[in-house]
Amino acid sequence: MCGIFGIVGHEDAARLTYFGLYALQHRGQESAGIVSWNGREGSCHLHSGMGLVPDVFHEEDLKHLDGETAIGHVRYSTTGKPQPRNAQPLLVRVRNGVQLALAHNGNLTNAAELRRELENDGCIFQTTIDSEIFVHLIARALSTRTLEEAVIEACSKVEGAYSLLILSEGVIYALRDPHGFHPLSMARMGDSWVFASESCAFDLLEADYVREVEPGEMVVAEQGYPTCRSVRFCRGEKPVRQCIFELVYFARPDSRIFGEDVYQCRKCMGRNLIRESMADAECVVPFPDSGIYAALGVAQEAGVPYEHALIRNHYVGRTFIQPSQSMRQFSVRVKINPVRSMIEKKSLYVVDDSIVRGTTIRTRVAKLRELGARAVHFRVSSPPIKYPCFYGIDFPSPNDLIATKYSPEQICAMLGLDSLHYLTKEGLLASVSQPDRYCTACFSGEYPTPLPEVRDKMSLEYRRRGDVRFSG
Ligand code: 5GP
Ligand code: MG
Repeated sequence: MCGIFGIVGHEDAARLTYFGLYALQHRGQESAGIVSWNGREGSCHLHSGMGLVPDVFHEEDLKHLDGETAIGHVRYSTTGKPQPRNAQPLLVRVRNGVQLALAHNGNLTNAAELRRELENDGCIFQTTIDSEIFVHLIARALSTRTLEEAVIEACSKVEGAYSLLILSEGVIYALRDPHGFHPLSMARMGDSWVFASESCAFDLLEADYVREVEPGEMVVAEQGYPTCRSVRFCRGEKPVRQCIFELVYFARPDSRIFGEDVYQCRKCMGRNLIRESMADAECVVPFPDSGIYAALGVAQEAGVPYEHALIRNHYVGRTFIQPSQSMRQFSVRVKINPVRSMIEKKSLYVVDDSIVRGTTIRTRVAKLRELGARAVHFRVSSPPIKYPCFYGIDFPSPNDLIATKYSPEQICAMLGLDSLHYLTKEGLLASVSQPDRYCTACFSGEYPTPLPEVRDKMSLEYRRRGDVRFSG
């Protein structure tokens, strides 16, 4: 998962990109980078590095990134190791010395095959990320085409998830793959065009939200031009399959993505969740921060008080970043600690947005028992995550997904819960306004793309259960 941001035609382009990336920091904390284009000089500047946005960029770096157009990226590795050369945007020279920068959010599903083909043809890859495939495909197509045509040609070869920003010679090309897996929106700020993964970045800059880049659409915005152009590079051939997990967990609650207000959507998931599974509890306690919004919906629908009885330490990175399982458990303890007086002798609804490995629930529920909770009714505002994601969400292998190995009843018994209920897929889809436009593969095993590269391996792993379906 990653965050991307771009701005066309502003004297402070890189600085605004820096702020935009700040607003998108939740989408990736591993590395950050900005490429700016200086029209007077006719050249690009790049600065990127490992770590958080404020650690990577300093005043001198922003001064060096002069120019009127810029794109930026924050990375959360899903393919390729966390190392400096895998930081984005990628910046290369193509035909006639023209510079091209590219920032990508999503995962290509035919990356290994394309990379093999390109390498057999003599391409030399500089990174281990799938995003570099675009660069090579575009560079090759340029021998007979314009850049715009070359980008479209590249898109006809790749499969999978890509929200893309490409910058070349003062023009930004903003694209979403035909399924529209991940979000990308555009806004207006004075005479400038702004693009961002999530609208919370526009709020920070006080830019006026215009609309989303549509699945299968390329928007071309050029420095000095008041309007931008829209090109449909794929219309109506592939069903829209936006990632529902963006709404469940990933996006910021103050964003608008996929035409949904994320905050309202999560509250609605909470309301549907408790309609499905009322219990006799006297207060609602969210797992901070991700469980807060669904828990508000639970409390309002159930008519019971809402209490912040689990306290989050805000100076700890996300649990997933820890490498080993033992450290991960430790980091959950560092991250979340209960308020004893709110737990003792109480019957509780405890709410989180999702259970992945089960680390959070395992370590913290035992503690609630230890502190004397009378009853723990665990509520999860998404269905059990049973299948890996190939489109950009960093779930572990199926063996590490707790729901792949154990049923809700087994998990409930193992953890000594009084009850456990996951929001049903129907309940989840009832929480969005266009339910037929989502990918729910991580819950259902119904993959919207063919996935040639994992098909054999997957079918081995899942053959016994026979419940995985690939389209195409
Ligand atoms: P578990 O502890 O079960 O492995 O993970 C569940 C917790 O991780 C939930 O609180 C959920 O909010 C959070 N979570 C879910 N998906 C992701 C993800 O892709 N990345 C990170 N960092 N956290 C996640
Ligand atoms: Mg969480």
